[in-house]
Amino acid sequence: MALFFGLTATTAKKMYDYFMSYNANSTTVCLIGVALVLGILAADFGSGIVHWGADNWGSVNLPGVGAAIIRPFRHHHVDAYAITRHDFLELNGNNFIVTLPLVWVAVSAVKSPDNALSLVSATFWLSFAVFGAFTNQIHSWAHMKNPPMLVRVLQNSGLLLSREHHHLHHVRPHDCNYCITTGWMNGPLRAIGFFEAAERAITGVTGVIPLHKQLS
Ligand SMILES: [Zn+2]
Ligand SMILES: [Zn+2]
Repeated sequence: MALFFGLTATTAKKMYDYFMSYNANSTTVCLIGVALVLGILAADFGSGIVHWGADNWGSVNLPGVGAAIIRPFRHHHVDAYAITRHDFLELNGNNFIVTLPLVWVAVSAVKSPDNALSLVSATFWLSFAVFGAFTNQIHSWAHMKNPPMLVRVLQNSGLLLSREHHHLHHVRPHDCNYCITTGWMNGPLRAIGFFEAAERAITGVTGVIPLHKQLS
């Protein structure tokens, strides 16, 4: 976690210095804003893929991922409030580790000689990394009866995963709203039938039925 915060702070400082030394025009500033949003969408989409996979495929007895990923996600359906009782390190430690390579990609992008492109690229990867790293924290806030006031404001404005939006996932058979960072990707993925198509493809190839269909 110290490595994640150290590398993130170093990357952000480098980006700030580049930005200040570079005479950015309005197009570059807009592209940096777009990259920030795309990074958030990528983190939200990634959270949905991991969550959907853990909820529906494989067994809690699988070596490695069974205990580390599948069991916590499925136990979360049984005791949705356990996530609010974890301390900061227990809640976020794994995500800080798996998103560390994304920060490394961001800091590598800042070294690019093309300032505009490097800033846009670094913004995307750093946004992806930071929102990915804080996904469990944001998910936990969606289960808290009394989250911090600023968090409540961000939830109510739709900028962070809200209690009401995420609650729909907790209705058995837990087959919707898998994205748990901001929840922004849930609507578009539902509209194109993304997870349904992926499930049909997996079932067609392997014959395995997703767990939510066995529950419903
Ligand atoms: Zn779930
Ligand atoms: Zn939840």
